[in-house]
Amino acid sequence: MTTNEAITYLEDEVNTLEEVESYFASTDLEDCPENEECLRNTVRELEVRRMSINALLYKENDNRAENVSVWHPSDDFICSCCGIELEGWRKVIGDVSSDACAFEEFSFKYCPNCGRKLI
Ligand SMILES: [Zn+2]
Repeated sequence: MTTNEAITYLEDEVNTLEEVESYFASTDLEDCPENEECLRNTVRELEVRRMSINALLYKENDNRAENVSVWHPSDDFICSCCGIELEGWRKVIGDVSSDACAFEEFSFKYCPNCGRKLI
């Protein structure tokens, strides 16, 4: 299960628990102490899942960086996290040892040094 799949799963549970919370909140709690207990438990379960979602989002964002260079992203790269600066790369199309090869601009999707996903 990826982090995004885990977040989606928890968000579905939050939606279901919010419906359960609404149900118990709409009942007459004075006549039925069990409902009050169910409401308290549901609120606690919601809180746990919301904190889990926030922790997963923080972890996900913590693994990201951005190219902070002022130049075009295919010409110059400076990682916002590890600070490495790179320039002068290009993508090889075809066999590099033959005359038939070509080159094209390429922008990184991940920092080649620290591996963080670029946003
Ligand atoms: Zn980096």
